[in-house]
Amino acid sequence: MEKIQMVDLKGQYNKIKDAVNTSIQEVLDSNTYINGPQVQSFQKNLEKYLDVKHVIPCANGTDALQIAMMGLDLKPGDEVITADFTFAATVEVIALLQLTPVLVDVEEDTFNISIEAIKKAITPKTKAIVPVHLFGQSANMEAIMQLAKEHNLYVIEDNAQAIGANYTFENGTKIKAGAIGHVASTSFFPSKNLGCYGDGGAIFTNDDALAHKLRGIVNHGMYERYHHDVVGVNSRLDSVQAAVLNAKLPLLDQYCNARQAAAAKYSQALSNHKNIITPIITGDKDSHVFHQYTLRIIDADRNALMQHLLSKDIPCAIYYPIPLHSQKAYCSPNYNESDFPVTNQLVKEVISLPMHTELSDEQIGYICDSILEFFK
Ligand SMILES: *Cc1c(COP(=O)(O)O)cnc(C)c1O
Repeated sequence: MEKIQMVDLKGQYNKIKDAVNTSIQEVLDSNTYINGPQVQSFQKNLEKYLDVKHVIPCANGTDALQIAMMGLDLKPGDEVITADFTFAATVEVIALLQLTPVLVDVEEDTFNISIEAIKKAITPKTKAIVPVHLFGQSANMEAIMQLAKEHNLYVIEDNAQAIGANYTFENGTKIKAGAIGHVASTSFFPSKNLGCYGDGGAIFTNDDALAHKLRGIVNHGMYERYHHDVVGVNSRLDSVQAAVLNAKLPLLDQYCNARQAAAAKYSQALSNHKNIITPIITGDKDSHVFHQYTLRIIDADRNALMQHLLSKDIPCAIYYPIPLHSQKAYCSPNYNESDFPVTNQLVKEVISLPMHTELSDEQIGYICDSILEFFK
């Protein structure tokens, strides 16, 4: 059996080597390293895949979030509601722009932002909600868009973990995660579901005026060469990364299927155990693209299980070990521990198993057997 990896970038590359190398070679031959034809074509290809009007490529997923917020003209002191249980980038950019982050609790079954908690956190100063589609499954966008409409708020989707996932509305309409809110961000960090071989990111929107604005912000606030109309940043997806992404985008659905198949095998083996809660899929099968496959370990020592797996050469990880409201940079006297019962519990219970496109049945079987053996 091949050594098990948390994410197997090498195994994946070996299968697409020719396509990736050819695509990168085109960039080298064209000598257009910034904003070259590969960047333009990737933008168009992704717009088509997501069925969204505008994709604005940029340097990474954190920049994408920041630029999306800059484009919405939020003012210092405006309150932005986001989830307590996520990667720090989400709250980081809110704070960096001198907006006021308002962290709220999540749902224990989906790990996604709690609608009830959002409702409680809305004040006259609230200007935006940032749902994070955690671990590959969209937050409850139907309820979030409804709340946003009622309270006149922007919705900025952090889609770094759920590219390719579908969200189905009650009326049956299916929309790709990231194409639902006013604006969305994603990351092409190598381990993400659509990863490049360095840093990369993008912003999506269906709003023409906002898209125009964002295209200027990513490029020093320039709309006409050397005319700086707004304060911008320098955030570009380079042509080599776009070349990698152009080679991989046609495989994204296949990659999503491979992750879903691995998740189904894990769940089949692990779902009937009293100490294990396997991830739930709230919509159709294509609604969860399993950026992570995350278990909750109940009435048992999660950290001892982790040590047991590591001792058997099975990598695993805790996403995320500390709630954002407990982080030194983001704690606030405005928060009460009683506002975060779910996050406070999840950080003690969660464990993410190896998840990528190259997992073999043999590896999944070995991982599941090793987990079940721990509880014997
Ligand atoms: C990875 C990630 C980001 C940041 O993306 P980078 O490309 O690493 O800057 C933001 N939000 C979430 C939820 C992420 O998982």
